[in-house]
Amino acid sequence: MTDLPTTTDKKLGLVIDLDTCVGCHACVISCKGWNTENYGAPLSDQRPYGEEPMGTFLNRVHSYEVKAEGQAAQTVHFPKSCLHCENAPCVTVCPTGASYKRKEDGIVLVNEQSCIGCGLCAWACPYGARELDQEEGVMKKCTLCVDRIYNENLPEEDRQPACVRTCPAGARHFGDFADPESNVSILTAERGGMDLMPELDTAPVNKYLPPRLKDSFDDESILAPFLDPVAEETQGFMGWLDKQLSRLPGDTKTQSEDV
Ligand code: SF4
Ligand code: SF4
Ligand code: SF4
Repeated sequence: MTDLPTTTDKKLGLVIDLDTCVGCHACVISCKGWNTENYGAPLSDQRPYGEEPMGTFLNRVHSYEVKAEGQAAQTVHFPKSCLHCENAPCVTVCPTGASYKRKEDGIVLVNEQSCIGCGLCAWACPYGARELDQEEGVMKKCTLCVDRIYNENLPEEDRQPACVRTCPAGARHFGDFADPESNVSILTAERGGMDLMPELDTAPVNKYLPPRLKDSFDDESILAPFLDPVAEETQGFMGWLDKQLSRLPGDTKTQSEDV
């Protein structure tokens, strides 16, 4: 229904380090703040101080306890937002052209003027990365802070996504994956950055750096057993994470409850 560009000049995206993320939610709050006050319709809340509070978020952090055989349990915090996929099913399913991927930098956006709130794109996204704003009736998703990164009214150090600028642990990195010399390309190569659910062929631009075992000083064992390299089928920690993700309800109302 809506075409994707065959290629993009840049591939802007995030590297998220699951080894250093401490689950503080600062990225969630700064994202909500910036994207409520700036680009597009505000991100609404429903009953924020009442029963069953709900709200629209572009970035959420899910926390899990992971235990491998013979190892102590450890907590892994998993920040989740749009991965700006190269083969984005959320774009091709859109009946109005409201969802689109930019040729110049690869950012996936929603034109709120032509969005009819049908929800097809949220259904098509396998990562649960889109949320229909209950008040505005339009689809919301991470914009990579497109109104910050090119904003010449901001000091240069602030021309980064709000989540990256805010993260106190330095767990979030922004850059161009099309450039093999960029910070994100180098981090991904050096630390074994991974795609989420690679078997779906969505070709996510964002990459995750896997967590190391916390109670091991042995370099050999640091990557085992969670970090089997992703092959044809997702295995190890990322496979387990994929399963947890697939259990997340597609219903955006329910997603809103687990911030
Ligand atoms: S993560 Fe979901 S919303 Fe983002 S581009 Fe991929 S399919 Fe679309
Ligand atoms: S909710 Fe909006 S962006 Fe999503 S498929 Fe429908 S019209 Fe397109
Ligand atoms: S701000 Fe950084 S450390 Fe805190 S939850 Fe987000 S990614 Fe993790």
